[in-house]
Amino acid sequence: MTDEVPRLLSHGHELSGARAAVATKHHKTATIARALGGPEGLHLQTAVVDTDTLGTFTGETPRPGTPRHTATVKARWACQDSGLDLGVGSEGSFFPHPEVGFITMQVEHVALTKASTGLTIIGTATGGAPWAVRRTIAAEDDLLEFRDLLASGAQRLIVRPATGFTDGPVISKGIASIERLRDAARTAFDHDEAGRAVVESDLRAHHCGPRHHLIHAAARDLALRLATRCPACASFGFGRDESRPGAPCAWCGTPTATLRHHIYSCPTCHRTDVQTIPGSDRADPGTCPECNP
Ligand SMILES: [Zn+2]
Ligand SMILES: [Zn+2]
Repeated sequence: MTDEVPRLLSHGHELSGARAAVATKHHKTATIARALGGPEGLHLQTAVVDTDTLGTFTGETPRPGTPRHTATVKARWACQDSGLDLGVGSEGSFFPHPEVGFITMQVEHVALTKASTGLTIIGTATGGAPWAVRRTIAAEDDLLEFRDLLASGAQRLIVRPATGFTDGPVISKGIASIERLRDAARTAFDHDEAGRAVVESDLRAHHCGPRHHLIHAAARDLALRLATRCPACASFGFGRDESRPGAPCAWCGTPTATLRHHIYSCPTCHRTDVQTIPGSDRADPGTCPECNP
């Protein structure tokens, strides 16, 4: 993937040169503008919206909707705050890889919404997040394993007691030095029954450089959708919304967890195309519930 501006909104596109507001507390506008901006792209400005009220990565405020819904709500807020008809919102989520539990997966969504019509188009990117840290530590640990990570400046850390606390001053965020990490760990140990603490990546976008690679990829996916016309109604925004498992086992034909179909749809007329993924007709028997239960 290159960082070049794709200029996907050229050639007299309806949105070429349109102004849009990006809802962010976390400085994502520059990352999103690299994909959606440019001379003929969207002209982006930042809308000052407290997106943390929609839920936070550290759990003080539970996230009520799906990440796609949250990205859309943020885009609507950007319209309201700015008075512009176009708004952009983004939302990320992290979860363990469904088959390889120690790998953290990252999904980013970037939504563009048009307030006057309600039309919403969402770009998505999924990938591994091998950089994401999550460790349980005890008082005797020297924490030196985190020194190089903090010295690199690539990301910051959060420390909390291992159990019981989702809020309050015993949780330290945005930790950028080993000294502050030690102080924060002492506070967390003192508030944990077993004297243990959790150290993890601060996933808020302004503290987490590695997240931006996939935020940019999701914005590129959105730009690609904006440049893609629906085969039925010719509106922009046609693209892949989801992928479904069910590829047949190469040995016995039983549907497996391996992806089988991509679902493409139009946000305007809701035409849906189901496409079989090339090479998905013989899934690894290792993923088969019959051959490898
Ligand atoms: Zn099988
Ligand atoms: Zn259509």
